[in-house]
Amino acid sequence: MPEFRLYNSMSRSVEPFAPADGETVRMYACGPTVYNPAHLGNFRTFLFSDLLRRALRLAGFKVQQVMNLTDVDDKIIKRATEQKKSVREVTEPVIGMFNVDRDYLRIEPAEHYPRATDFIVEMVDLVRRLEQKGIAYQADDKSVYFAIDKFPGYGRLSRLDTRELKAGARVAQDDYAKENAQDFALWKAATPDDEACGAAWDSPWGRGRPGWHLECSAMAMSLLGDTIDIHTGGIDLQFPHHEDEIAQSEAATGKPFARFWCHGAFLLTDGSKMAKRVGNVATVQDLRAQNVSAAAVRHLMFSTHYRKQLNLSGAALEASMEAVRRVGDFAERLASATGGTPKLAELAETFRGEFDEALRDDLNAPRAQAALFVFINHANAELDKRGSDAAGLAAARDAFARADGVLDIVPEQEGVDAGLAAWVDQQLAARKAARGRRDFAAADQIRKSLEEKGIVVEDTPQGARWKKVR
Ligand code: AMP
Ligand code: ZN
Repeated sequence: MPEFRLYNSMSRSVEPFAPADGETVRMYACGPTVYNPAHLGNFRTFLFSDLLRRALRLAGFKVQQVMNLTDVDDKIIKRATEQKKSVREVTEPVIGMFNVDRDYLRIEPAEHYPRATDFIVEMVDLVRRLEQKGIAYQADDKSVYFAIDKFPGYGRLSRLDTRELKAGARVAQDDYAKENAQDFALWKAATPDDEACGAAWDSPWGRGRPGWHLECSAMAMSLLGDTIDIHTGGIDLQFPHHEDEIAQSEAATGKPFARFWCHGAFLLTDGSKMAKRVGNVATVQDLRAQNVSAAAVRHLMFSTHYRKQLNLSGAALEASMEAVRRVGDFAERLASATGGTPKLAELAETFRGEFDEALRDDLNAPRAQAALFVFINHANAELDKRGSDAAGLAAARDAFARADGVLDIVPEQEGVDAGLAAWVDQQLAARKAARGRRDFAAADQIRKSLEEKGIVVEDTPQGARWKKVR
C-alpha cells in the first residue's frame, strides 16, 4: 500500500503515518467547550478531523476516534453563575445544538463523545499518580499544580525555548496568556460559585474540579490507551493546552502520549480569527438561515489546505455554492445515464489515482477537489456522446461515489416538499398555456415568480424541467 503522509507538529515535518498496531488509528480530537453554540471556526477544525478520519479509512485503516465535550471549565462556570443555573443546565442544550450542527455538516460521528464530568474519577486518579511521583503539589490556595521544572520534556511541542519558563509561578485559569509557561492547575479548589452551580467534587485534596488540560489527558488515555496515534485540534491549542496534556500524561505513564500532533489553521473573517470574544462569529444556524447547504460549507473548507488560514467571505461561499451545484448535476446525470463510453473507465482510473494521492499527501483536499472537477468536466463530455458501454459508466459511478465518500459534497435537493412541487407543476402548466396562446409576457412573469422561490426552469425537447437551486 502506498504510504500515507501527515504533518506532525512535534517534528515540524511531514512524516509517513501508519497506526502503531498497523490496523486501527486511535485518534483524539479536542472537542467544543459547550457554553455557546460552536462557530464556523470551531467547525473548520472539526471538519478537518472529519476529513482526516475519512481519508484514513480510504487509505485502508480502521479508525477509533474520541472527541471530548468540555462540559466544565472557567467559561461554563461563569455562564452558569450569571444565569443562576447549574453547569448541566448550561451545557445540556448546547450539546444538543452541537449534535444538530454536526449532523447538518455531515461530520461523521466519532466513536465516543465523553463528557468531562463523567470522568472525574479518572482525572483524580491521574493527579494522584502525579502527586505520588512528586510532580504535582498542593499549594496554599488548596489547588493542585503541575511542577513544570520536574518534567524535562516540557515545551517540546511548542518550542518553549522562545518562551519564558516560570517554574513555581502558578496560574489557575484554564486559558491563560500564551507567552509564559507556568505551573498550571491540575485540580482547582472549589469556590462558592463552583459549589453553587454543581461544579465541585470530592477529592483527596478537598472539594474541587479538574483543570481543562487534565480533562483531555484523562479521557484520551482512559478510552484510547496510554499512547494514541493522532491528536488533533486547532493551532491555538498547541500551547498551553497540548503542551500541558503531554506533560501530565507522559509524566504519569513514562510513555509517549501521542505519536502525531496535527493542528488545523484558523478560519478568519475579514482577516481576523473567528472567535467568540472578537464578536465576529458566524454559526451553522446562520448559514442554514441563508440556505447555504452543508455541501457548500464542506467544499469551501476543503478548498484550502488545512494548515493554511482560510478567510470566510460571501464571495467564497457563493463560489462554493456554484461548485457543488455542478457536483450535484453530475451526480444526477450519472444516476440517470443508461450507458457510457470505454473512455469513462480510463478517466475514472486516472481520477482515482490522483484523488487518493492528493489525500495521502498530508491531506491535500484542495488538490483532491480539483481532480474531481477535472474528472467531472471530462466525464460530462463523454456522457454527451450517449454511449452504451455499461462498464465505463459503472467505473465512473464507482470513482465518483468513492471520492464523495470522503468529501461528501453533493448538495441535497433542499426544501422541495410535496406542496412546493405541486405548486411548481401548476405554475409550469400555466406557463405552457400562456405560451400556447403566445402571451409571452405572462409566461415570463411566471418564470420570474418561480425564480423568486429558487426554482430554475430548463426547457428541454422533452418539456420543461425544473430544480430548486437554493
Ligand atoms: P473551543 O470550543 O474554544 O474549545 O474550541 C474548539 C476547537 O475549535 C478547538 O480545536 C479550537 O482550536 C478550534 N477553533 C477555535 N477557533 C477557531 C478558528 N477561528 N478557526 C479554526 N479553529 C478554531
Ligand atoms: Zn483537549
